Amino acid sequence: MKRRAVFAMVLAGLGLAAWAGRAPLGSMMMERAIASRAGQDLTAGLPDGLHVVLCGTGSPLPDPTRAEACTLIIAGQTLLVFDAGDGAARNLGRWGVPLGRVQAVFLTHLHSDHVEGLPPLALQRWVGGAATTPLPLIGPPGVEQLAAGYTMAFTADAGWRTAHHGAAIAPPSGAGMSGRAVAPGLVWDQGGVKVTAIEVNHAPVVPAYGYRIDYKGRSVVISGDTGASAALEQAARGADVLVHEALQPRMVAMMTAALEARGRANTAKITRDIIDYHLSPEQAAAAASRAGVKTLVLSHIVPPIPNPYFNAAFLGDAPNKYDGPIIVGRDGLMLSLPADGGPLREKMIN
Ligand SMILES: [Zn+2]
Ligand SMILES: [Zn+2]
Repeated sequence: MKRRAVFAMVLAGLGLAAWAGRAPLGSMMMERAIASRAGQDLTAGLPDGLHVVLCGTGSPLPDPTRAEACTLIIAGQTLLVFDAGDGAARNLGRWGVPLGRVQAVFLTHLHSDHVEGLPPLALQRWVGGAATTPLPLIGPPGVEQLAAGYTMAFTADAGWRTAHHGAAIAPPSGAGMSGRAVAPGLVWDQGGVKVTAIEVNHAPVVPAYGYRIDYKGRSVVISGDTGASAALEQAARGADVLVHEALQPRMVAMMTAALEARGRANTAKITRDIIDYHLSPEQAAAAASRAGVKTLVLSHIVPPIPNPYFNAAFLGDAPNKYDGPIIVGRDGLMLSLPADGGPLREKMIN
C-alpha cells in the first residue's frame, strides 16, 4: 500500500515536471520528429518490385480516416498515381513519397471524388521536382478539359509560387496539368512498366476505366468504380493483387432508412442510387474468385466504417465467395510484390 502511494506520487511528480517543462520538452521532441521525417523518401531502400500504396480508400461520404480514391504504384524507379481524390496528396506528402518523381496520374473516370486532390498533387510534384512540364493526366475523354480547367484555375497561384521561390524551383513551364485521353488497351510502356486501360461498367459515367499494371512478372489491377464487369475479370486473370471498390448495400440501406426517417429525401435518393453502380464486398470476392487473382484488396469503402472491428460486418459473406486473402484497405497500407516472385508483404507506412 505504502509502496503504491510512493509510486503514485513519483508518477504525479513526473507528470507535473513534464507539464511545467512543456515548452522546452515540446521543442526538443518536435526537433527530433522533424529531423526524422522532413525530407524522408519512402522509396529509399525499397527492394525492386511492384509496390502498391493505398493513398485513399474512401469515397465521397466523409470518413475521418480515409482520403478519397487514390492508389500509388511504385514499380522499380517509376512512380504512377491512379486517381487523386480529396486528401490524397496530403497523405502522399505526409508519408515521404517523393512527389517530384511522379511521372503521370491515371484517372479511372472524372467523378469528383477521383480528381479533387489533383491541384495539390500537381503543385507538390512541380515544386518538389522543379518539373519543367505540367503533370500528365491520362484517362478517358474529358481529361483534357479537366487538365486545362484546373491549370487555368490555379494560374495566379502558380505565378506567385514562381515569383516567391524563383524559376529554378518553380519553372513556369512545369505548372499545372496536361491531359491525354486514351482508349482501352496498352496506354503506358516505359521502364519495364506496362499499364493497360480496361473499360468497366459505371454508367452513366461512360467510359470509365480500370487499369492493369505489369512489372517484372508481377501484376496489380485497379478496378476504378464499377458494377459487374466481365472485361475487368478477364483483364485481372491471374493477377497478384486486385484492388477493387466495394459498397456494402446492407449498410447503405441503413443510411437510406435513417435519412428517410429524418425527412432527408434528396440524400436518401442518392444513397439508393449509388447501389447499382458499385459492387458489394461479396460480389467483388466472387469476381476475384472467377478471375483467379491471388489477393483481393477492397478500397473506395462505402459507407465509412469507423475502425477494423467493423470489417467483418462490412465483408458479410465475402470470405465464403473467395479462397484467397481479403484485405479491407486502409490509408497507409503498402503491399509489396518483390521482382523475384517472393511472397506479398504488407506494412503500414502512416
Ligand atoms: Zn464514380
Ligand atoms: Zn468514386
